[in-house]
Amino acid sequence: MATIHRARLGGFFLAFLSLGSHLLDREVGPLVWLLLGLSFLVYPHLVRAVLKRGRPSAQASLNWLCVDSGLLGVWSAALGYPLWISFTLLICHAAAVLHYMGRLATVLIVLSFVLPGMMWLGLSATALQPLTGPLTTGLCMLSLTLYLYTVSDMAFRRIIELRKASATLRVNEQALLDANAALQLQMAEVNTLQAQLREQANRDALTGLYNRRYLDSTLPRELARCERDGEALCLMLIDIDYFKKINDTLGHPAGDAVLRHLAELLTARARVADMTCRYGGEEFVVVMPGMSLATACERAEAWREDFAGTDRVVGDAPIRATLSVGIVCHARGSITAQQLIQRADQALYRAKAEGRNRVAVWDAQSPAAAS
Ligand code: GH3
Ligand code: MG
Ligand code: MG
Repeated sequence: MATIHRARLGGFFLAFLSLGSHLLDREVGPLVWLLLGLSFLVYPHLVRAVLKRGRPSAQASLNWLCVDSGLLGVWSAALGYPLWISFTLLICHAAAVLHYMGRLATVLIVLSFVLPGMMWLGLSATALQPLTGPLTTGLCMLSLTLYLYTVSDMAFRRIIELRKASATLRVNEQALLDANAALQLQMAEVNTLQAQLREQANRDALTGLYNRRYLDSTLPRELARCERDGEALCLMLIDIDYFKKINDTLGHPAGDAVLRHLAELLTARARVADMTCRYGGEEFVVVMPGMSLATACERAEAWREDFAGTDRVVGDAPIRATLSVGIVCHARGSITAQQLIQRADQALYRAKAEGRNRVAVWDAQSPAAAS
C-alpha cells in the first residue's frame, strides 16, 4: 500500500503542475490557487494519514481511489474538460488502479471520474474548453509518459519477482519430492530390516529352522485353527540318539554338523504347511496340520531310516547317527500346546526306552502316558 501512496503523491504533484500551468493563462483568483494546492498537494497526505490510522484493507484503498477520481473529475469539469489534462488525469489514474486493483475497480474509477464531473458541468453550466496552451500540453505529455512509464516499470519488476519466486518454488518442490522419495526408500529399508529382525528373532542361528520361541507363539494358534476347521494335527518330537557321545568323541563341530544335517533333511522332506523347529539341543519338533496319524508315522519312519542310513564325514571321521521319534496326533476335543508336546515327549521317552532308533506313537493306555 506504500507504493499506492507514492503513486498518489507523485501523480497529484504532476497534476498540480499541469493544472497550475493551465490556470496561469486564465488569471484566476487566490481562492482557486488555494483549492488547487489543497486538492493536489495537501489532500494526498491527508489520505495517507487517514489510511495509516485504520486497519490496512483493499476496500479502504479502493474507496479512497474513488474519492481521488471524483476530485479529478470535478477539477476537469470545472476547467471545461481541457483535452490533454482530462485525458492525462483519467488515463494515468485508471492505469494505476488497474495495476493495483484489477479491471472491475477500473470501471468504478472511471465512473466516479465521469459522474461528479458531469454533475459539476451541469450545475455550473461551464462550457467545454478542450484546448490547452503549449506549456500545459507539454507538461501533460511529460506527466503521461512519466506516469505510465513508472507503472509499467513496476509491473515489469513484479513479473521478474514472480518468475524468480516461481523458480524458487519449483526448486523447493523438487527438493521436497526428492526428500520424500529418500524418505520412502528409508522407510522401505526400515521395514525390510524390521522384517529381517522379526525373522531372525524366530530362527535358530545354527540350523536356520524356527526356534522354540516361534513354536510357543504359533502352536496354540495352529491348534485352535485345526480344532475350528475339524482337522487333525500331528506333532513329531525328534531326538538324536546318544548325541552327547558324538560331541564327546568327535568334538562339538561334528555335533553341529549332524544337527545341521538333520535340519536340512527335515526342511527338504516336510510339506510347505508343516512347521519345522529346533526345540532345544538335539531335539526337533515338526508340526503337521491336516495330517493323519498313519501318514505321520510313515513319514517319521522314512526320515528315521534316511537319517540312520546316511554316512556323514566330518574331517576324516565318518559319523553315523540315529534318531528316535515320538508322535502324537490330535483329532478331537481340545488340548493345550503344552499337553500336546508333553504327549509327544512321553512317546519319545518310550522310543528311547524300547532301544532308540525307532518311532513311537503316544497312546493313552501306555504306562508313561498314565503316569
Ligand atoms: P539320548 O540318546 O538319551 O538322547 O542321549 P543324548 O546323549 O542324545 O542326550 P543328552 O541330553 O545326554 O545330550 C544332549 C547333548 O547335546 C548335550 C549337549 O552338550 C549337546 N548339545 C546341545 N546343544 C548343542 C549344540 O548346539 N551343538 C552341539 N554340538 N551339541 C549340543
Ligand atoms: Mg535330548
Ligand atoms: Mg538325544
